[in-house]
Amino acid sequence: MTTEQSNLFYLATQPRPFLDHGEGIYLYDESGKRYIDGSSGAMVSNIGHSNPRVLAKMKAQMDKATFGYRLHFRTHPSEDLATKLAGLMPEGLDRIFFVSGGSEAVETAEKLARQYAVTQGQSSRWKVIARTPAYHGGTLGALALTGGKLFAGPFAPMFQDMPHVKAPTCYLDRDNLSDEDRGIKYAEMLRERIEAEGADTVLAFIMEPVGGASTGALVAPDSYYKRIREICDEYGVILIFDEVMTGAGRTGTFLACEHWGATPDIIAMSKGLGAGYAPLGAVAARREMVDALMEAGGFLHGFTYAGNPLACAAGLAVLEEMEEQNIVQNCAAMGEVLHARLKTLMDRYPFIGDVRGKGLLQAFELMSDRDTKDPLPKEMNAHSELVELAYARGLILYSRRTRGGVEGDHFLVCPPLIITETQIDEIMAILIDSLDAFAA
Ligand code: PMP
Repeated sequence: MTTEQSNLFYLATQPRPFLDHGEGIYLYDESGKRYIDGSSGAMVSNIGHSNPRVLAKMKAQMDKATFGYRLHFRTHPSEDLATKLAGLMPEGLDRIFFVSGGSEAVETAEKLARQYAVTQGQSSRWKVIARTPAYHGGTLGALALTGGKLFAGPFAPMFQDMPHVKAPTCYLDRDNLSDEDRGIKYAEMLRERIEAEGADTVLAFIMEPVGGASTGALVAPDSYYKRIREICDEYGVILIFDEVMTGAGRTGTFLACEHWGATPDIIAMSKGLGAGYAPLGAVAARREMVDALMEAGGFLHGFTYAGNPLACAAGLAVLEEMEEQNIVQNCAAMGEVLHARLKTLMDRYPFIGDVRGKGLLQAFELMSDRDTKDPLPKEMNAHSELVELAYARGLILYSRRTRGGVEGDHFLVCPPLIITETQIDEIMAILIDSLDAFAA
């Protein structure tokens, strides 16, 4: 799209049609063409589009009040949403702070960890170790955790770069370790990093429990999560899970951390909480951390729109809908169906080298050779070509050309969590048609 056609500017992309409306897992453009929202936008629209309950609750709230500044009023939607969320968090993480998006949630988690450490007389601790590759957001603080050339490159002097450890990309490893040992191997990299930085300077460790856009739905072996928790405890490092993408049911449990029983100290979430109905995010933290902060005078942080009643009414309705329609359970069941169906593609297309994921955070990756795990040549531009072939056929996919920090094309298949088996078959039919065209 040229600037003559629009005053908006973004990262350069294909020109796209105007969106008209959405319904369930489908989106329609102004010409009436239907698309399956195979990536829930950017893993946002977890309960599907135009949900009548959410719209009705938002309209009811709109008729009463859309904004009341938090220093002037308490509001029922924000109190009720905080109570509801606290009940869905792991034991002990029942203090909630609202924000309006994922980057804000991540930076809130960082600032909370830092201010808590200061109240504990540990002001030497300020480094937040993150993994590479990772995606934690686009604001400068979150970008320092995201790191890497792709997103952080030109901005590097504008923030204090944080130390990184390698994300577990076990499927690319060519050793003979068992899964369990591989998990430990990667987790121990955190210990090495803490030691190298000096434990008394390390404030926190942040990770996406299942990598999203960064690694393409990479899940670590069970042993990884357990060992990470142990290492953080050993060194007094605060463990932050960035559940911005994985939270709100995406991996088949309300939070991804439930899969491993590795409870972090702080959880940042966003996307699926507002589910496309409102810009909303939340940070949940251990009660004793927040209480210590409050006793010391309060949390020095806040965003104007955070916790506004309209966004919170939307979030509350989203959670009610998830509960009443058993949406998390549906995600777990349909995630298995989708995973199995995607696996069958490996028999049909030799260039599909890996299928992975948890719940409805699924991905497949293209390779030129499954044994060597070599990627397809960059010039093929496979990630964008396949996305366009699918888009033309009415299926929206989300792709990236990085995997585990090296070249490689991966595609996230992450439909709304309300999807049915028949609709998964619809996705598969379009995907096969698109892959046939790609292979031709
Ligand atoms: N963390 C993770 C894991 C994400 O996937 C994203 C968004 N892709 C963010 C943080 C940043 O969220 P936002 O774009 O809403 O600021």
